Amino acid sequence: MVESTESESRKLLGRLREAMAGENPGQARLDKITHLIADSIGTEVCSVYLFRDDDTLELCATEGLNVESVHQTRMRVGEGLVGRVAKFGKVVNTPDAPNAKGFRYMPETGEERFSSFLGIPIQRLGEMLGVLVVQSKEAREFSADAVYALEVVAMVIAEMTELGAFVGEGAALSPLHQQPVLLPGTAAQEGAAEGHVWLHEPRVVVTNPIADDPERELERLNEAVEQLRVGVDKMLEISQNGDKEQLQVLEAYRMFANSKGWMRRMEEDISRGLSAEAAVEKEQSQARARMSQVQDSYLRERLSDLDDLSNRLLRILTGQGAETGAELPDDPILVARNIGPAELLEYGRNLKGIILEEGSVGSHAAIVARALAIPLVVNTKRITNEALNGDHIMVDGEQGVVHLRPDDSVVSAFRDKIAMLAQAQERYVSIRDKPAVTLDGQKIDLVMNAGLMADLPSLEGSGAEGVGLFRTELQFLVRNQMPKRQELVELYKRVLDAAHGKRVVFRTLDIGSDKVLPYMKPNDEPNPALGWRAIRVGLDKPGVMRMQLQALMRAANGRPLTVMFPFVAQAEEFRAAREEVNKTLERERILGHVLPETLEIGAMLETPSLAFAPQKFFDEVDFLSIGGNDLKQFFFAADRENERVRKRYDTLNVSFLSFIEQIVGRCETSGTPLSFCGEDAGRPIEAACLAAMGMRTLSMRPASIGPVKSLLTRIDLNDLRSVISESRNQGDQSVRTAVMRYLREI
Ligand code: PEP
Ligand code: MG
Repeated sequence: MVESTESESRKLLGRLREAMAGENPGQARLDKITHLIADSIGTEVCSVYLFRDDDTLELCATEGLNVESVHQTRMRVGEGLVGRVAKFGKVVNTPDAPNAKGFRYMPETGEERFSSFLGIPIQRLGEMLGVLVVQSKEAREFSADAVYALEVVAMVIAEMTELGAFVGEGAALSPLHQQPVLLPGTAAQEGAAEGHVWLHEPRVVVTNPIADDPERELERLNEAVEQLRVGVDKMLEISQNGDKEQLQVLEAYRMFANSKGWMRRMEEDISRGLSAEAAVEKEQSQARARMSQVQDSYLRERLSDLDDLSNRLLRILTGQGAETGAELPDDPILVARNIGPAELLEYGRNLKGIILEEGSVGSHAAIVARALAIPLVVNTKRITNEALNGDHIMVDGEQGVVHLRPDDSVVSAFRDKIAMLAQAQERYVSIRDKPAVTLDGQKIDLVMNAGLMADLPSLEGSGAEGVGLFRTELQFLVRNQMPKRQELVELYKRVLDAAHGKRVVFRTLDIGSDKVLPYMKPNDEPNPALGWRAIRVGLDKPGVMRMQLQALMRAANGRPLTVMFPFVAQAEEFRAAREEVNKTLERERILGHVLPETLEIGAMLETPSLAFAPQKFFDEVDFLSIGGNDLKQFFFAADRENERVRKRYDTLNVSFLSFIEQIVGRCETSGTPLSFCGEDAGRPIEAACLAAMGMRTLSMRPASIGPVKSLLTRIDLNDLRSVISESRNQGDQSVRTAVMRYLREI
């Protein structure tokens, strides 16, 4: 075999480019590529396998194997040597393929004649697109130089695959960025929206992976890196007096920007025939592949710094990016890998929908999206690779799916759905000012959950009778530093002003577990949900809690005030917290501040233990609110953030409903006002069952008030209660089926 030298690989890339520039349809191009590679590096076989779907590879072109096996031979990821390359994203290089670990014989290809095998992953920015394989009869290991040359070629094939250069035959050859795609994700905020893609951080598309003037490309690279270094130095200068962490990140950037190894590898790629931007991207791809394997969080962060730096460099080289003047469409659907709550707030209500590649239902971005009532789908794999700015897109926040570049039939079905949702909304508006009274005359108080200023207009719009849960931590979460007391006073004052005398239940800071403040040292706990969180932090480090109580009292300024403590597991914790309130009240009095007109102090019932507290506790507490999200996770021992286990336990499980009934009974005995403020309160069927169990106040997100009220006004709680009892007596695990049957008949 002829070893590839630098100039040979450049020659090969030159020939590849010519092949790509021709008028050939997709398959002919791919055939030509495999022919050229085999010819240039002197092997009998060269084949390209591309992903057909998420876990199947298909032989799409070959020089040297049986032609009949093209588009016939398929393997799963991990299967055979090709599948192994795809699974681990690593080169397999062996002189004796038939005896190598994992080899699987594909008789239709006629590959038994070939001894040596070299498989190279075809990947782009961490996404595996396929495998490039060369094989020869002669039993030998391919040299490092040959491997390197083929990696460069694989990079070019990856770019072409991305650009749709193989338009035409076979599903595996479909171009990206042109076909309709349905991407499943996880529903995080209901609603449906149609619009156009707005990439939060636009992806740079490299259109010219091959260059024929390496000198010129080296110059371009050097100029761009210089510009990058100057930019980083400038940022460092500006941040000298800023916060320490940002400085550390920038220092790391500078280190990478000056890294000799990084530069050398990119220069080498260019001398092999890649354009400057393709060389940057090749290094970025490899860093991403490393990132997916690194466990250490510090190292991962550094690799992600490098990723960010590469993006900046690519933007300089291609002139693409946020600064290119792309305009926000009229109907933007934001697409991002992830986004912080503060950035999302900046977009505000301009967005029609949000799709995140990562993210989770309980993330801060999800909380903000909910406050803004923008349909949100998270966990949407591949969306940032598939979507381009301006693409037509439909997001279904009910089902948790995304239709990218939908075809006509999807568009019309989806529009019907949007129209139906709009009709329902109109119906809800018409009952907005009516009370939620069931057919048997029970009035249910419907109040709302809030936490951001953006929530407050909903107090009017939704018909909520008050705020049953104001999550004060959200204000702490969306900032980069601890808010000052006066800022909190202003904020709480605005909340009370907007409520116009309606009751607002302020819950004190509920941090820890999934809610980690960016400016507080994280705690390395084995089980954060069971760890140092909420009132436990408040009592151990009372400084912040005192500041918050003071701010609330000053904001009330003579008006009634309601405070609730989160995650109270035993009466003692509540008593200690109430003691803090009393001390703060006394201090405020001495300082001459106007005290609240009335002060109610309640607790959240989020751990089963509190339901069994001594009767005295029920007599002492002014009110209780069941935090169903947490209570359910502890009752069933199923992490609320873990979809896999969370969904196993239905809220309408008889054990859970019986437990709720017991709590209602204890509160009735002591005359303690009780509400329910977990997510289930906003789900109409669950809400109806909670009401049947005796709950008379439900607190939910504003958008749920209409649907919940609409159902409550159509049911008789005595009937529903009988249905539940009957189902329970029959030994059902969940009463859902029986309840659904009843509801269908009303
Ligand atoms: C709950 O746990 O049900 C609750 C309302 O609190 P959070 O979701 O903020 O933990
Ligand atoms: Mg909770």
